[in-house]
Amino acid sequence: MTANIIDGTRIAGEIRQEVGEAVAAMKAEHGYTPGLATVLVGDNPASATYVRMKQKACAEAGIRSIGHNIPADSLESEVLELVSSLNADPEVNGILVQLPLPDHIDEEAVLNTIDLEKDVDGFHPVNIGRLAMKGRDPLFIPCTPHGIIELLKRSGVQLSGAEAVIVGRSNIVGLPVAMLLQKDNATVTICHSRTRDLGGHTRRADILVAAIGRREMITGDMVKPGAAVIDVGINQKEDPTKKRGYRLVGDVDYDSVKEVAGAITPVPGGVGPMTIAMLLGNTYRAAEIALGI
Ligand code: NDP
Repeated sequence: MTANIIDGTRIAGEIRQEVGEAVAAMKAEHGYTPGLATVLVGDNPASATYVRMKQKACAEAGIRSIGHNIPADSLESEVLELVSSLNADPEVNGILVQLPLPDHIDEEAVLNTIDLEKDVDGFHPVNIGRLAMKGRDPLFIPCTPHGIIELLKRSGVQLSGAEAVIVGRSNIVGLPVAMLLQKDNATVTICHSRTRDLGGHTRRADILVAAIGRREMITGDMVKPGAAVIDVGINQKEDPTKKRGYRLVGDVDYDSVKEVAGAITPVPGGVGPMTIAMLLGNTYRAAEIALGI
């Protein structure tokens, strides 16, 4: 059996189109344009690229983006002041602080300062707390985990009652994905670096999410036949045939797993494109909150 490919680029495109239509309707009905402020501290090239991609996606969806680039040696107090001024700015609906921040700045302090109603990354502890609690809904769901759930749902994967195994328990991916799957009535197991007999767990999974940061670690013999496999990992693998000398691979050994799984996300073109699509959705939602609708 060869797995169906879950096409993240196509599904993200659908979501971006939907958000664009909703933004156009908001402009027509309320004369209001959603706005996203991006905060980039320093000039890390990867971070700068991510911010540019987010700004471009905003423009395509009709969302205004307001970029703030400040030097790497800015004081923590200066970053906090900037975030506070964005909290107070009625033209700004969402605030995105690009991580990682330079070492001398406490990320937690910065993220905690973002107004709950502008926390479009969904990392504010109150939003995460609400995600964890039964009967409570966060204002915003973190983008990559939310994108994973959308990929599964839009590919027709049944979540309710499914055995879901997440490998990885980070604050930004593993843990929130586990909480979301649980909210959708999956039975969830979280595995991590101290898990004994990892394969024993993964082989039981109807839904397997790999968010490990270890290149091609999940192999075909660790996967239940027919399972839906979501590969979050982004790793470099040497490839002399490429101009840059490497290609991107996931945490899943694609070639062996695709022969066993029922559905699989490729890397690139799986989870990656979903993150930005969900950020646009969260920014639109923040504008709805600002309008009280
Ligand atoms: P972290 O390093 O924060 O977390 C990795 C997790 O994997 C930890 O919980 C760790 O366990 C666990 N782990 C590490 N080694 C093993 C092992 N041998 N067996 C079992 N579990 C293990 O990574 P992130 O969650 O931030 O990212 C994971 C991957 O996803 C990375 O490749 C990253 O680049 C990618 N990523 C992709 C995104 C996208 O948009 N597509 C967005 C964000 C991340 P422990 O807790 O015990 O240390």
